[in-house]
Amino acid sequence: MTHVRLYSYGAVQEVTGSKHILEVDGKKILVDCGMFQGRREETYNKNKNLPFDPKEIEVAFLTHGHFDHTGNFPSLIKGGYEGVIYSTPATYDLASLVLYDSAHIQKRDAEFIKKLIRKGRKDLKVYGPIYDEEDVTETLSHFVTYPYNRRFKVFDKVEAEFYDAGHILGSSMILFNIELDHYKTLKVGFSGDLGRKGLPFLRNPQKLPDLDYFVLESTYGNRLHDDLSTVKEELSEVINSTYKKGGKIIIPAFAIERTQEIIYHIHELLLENKIPKLPVYIDSPMAVHATSIFKSHPECFDRETFKTFYDKKESPFDFDGVNYIVNVEDSKKLNYLKHPAIIISASGMCEHGRIVHHLRNNIENPANTILIVGFMAQHTLGRRLADREPEVKIFGEKLKVNARIKIINAFSAHADYNEMKEYVSQFDLSKLKRIFLVHGEPDAQEHLEKVLEGVGVKDVKRVFYNEKYKLA
Ligand SMILES: [Zn+2]
Repeated sequence: MTHVRLYSYGAVQEVTGSKHILEVDGKKILVDCGMFQGRREETYNKNKNLPFDPKEIEVAFLTHGHFDHTGNFPSLIKGGYEGVIYSTPATYDLASLVLYDSAHIQKRDAEFIKKLIRKGRKDLKVYGPIYDEEDVTETLSHFVTYPYNRRFKVFDKVEAEFYDAGHILGSSMILFNIELDHYKTLKVGFSGDLGRKGLPFLRNPQKLPDLDYFVLESTYGNRLHDDLSTVKEELSEVINSTYKKGGKIIIPAFAIERTQEIIYHIHELLLENKIPKLPVYIDSPMAVHATSIFKSHPECFDRETFKTFYDKKESPFDFDGVNYIVNVEDSKKLNYLKHPAIIISASGMCEHGRIVHHLRNNIENPANTILIVGFMAQHTLGRRLADREPEVKIFGEKLKVNARIKIINAFSAHADYNEMKEYVSQFDLSKLKRIFLVHGEPDAQEHLEKVLEGVGVKDVKRVFYNEKYKLA
């Protein structure tokens, strides 16, 4: 008898800290080891102390490079895990970028708090760093990469294969083929984060083979996104109207994926002669580094990208007028730009980084546009801009928001509930025994459960923390 169980220690009724375990005859396969994000003290303790013994994990997988899936692998290694971490090659590269960045931020934050304490803030406490650069280097040495659609042996009775999730560069769904008795196979799929059809340069989410069990994310289980098809038109309207006023377009964007999507669309619009030739500045060391990773993984791109760019000897991310800025002096020079330009910078929610300087310099000029293309969490400067507050505080200074605020809502890397329904409907539902919902707030999961039952999924189960589910 082969025994198979599933349980989760993160992304359970919530959207951060993904950690799922598939157990085959007592051997534990860990899928993702993400960082919890939220209030400092609570998340510090949750992240610092893994809820399982890393030495008991047989093998680990990473679905994609987002921090909430990759961010706590160094704690796994520090806790004594000696095995390999499987991912696609592009995911490995993004994980390297994200983990070193996290180690750097953790160190900087801890030093900052220590300084405040020295100055008399005895109410504060230092949290972290949980890991440093050296731990990250050690973690990266455990990675073994496999491309999409190449089945490999994990251990006796278990084979795995990455399928394209269409979510971010290198993102994958994982299929586990588990050999049961009497030549039967159990197929278990993990969605990771499920992407969407029609995102720039990424392929559409690939259909997994018919499954017995599917572990599905549910982030937008109760939401529908705006249509992606109007994004380019909206972008071209913003660029043209701002250009006519002689202004600048300031775009706060996440360094990974969203920045590259915007560059891609701008390049397309230039090739189609729909926008004037104006300089484009990518002013974020992390975004510049991320873009170089994107450039080195054309194997992740869709047919469309080849037709528009590579077949014509063009690169999607390089064109006349695009400038990638790393050094601080070059970044400061952008303060004195007199002509229309596009500045794309991080952080995505405008809380820190160079974008804050660009906003301060440009927010009071009515000729400029601030273009919002991503999710803005509560209590961030980005959210205040998205809420169209007439005045905002930047570096302690009150500034009038005279620039135009334009929001394009269609960008999202996660499938909405219709897209999830459509994806799941491709399966032979008579074979699908159950869908397990992870990575979503309770409201989203409750709604998605009804939607999936509505298309004929026999059994939908919301996963609870450390509750063990028997699959075979
Ligand atoms: Zn993700």
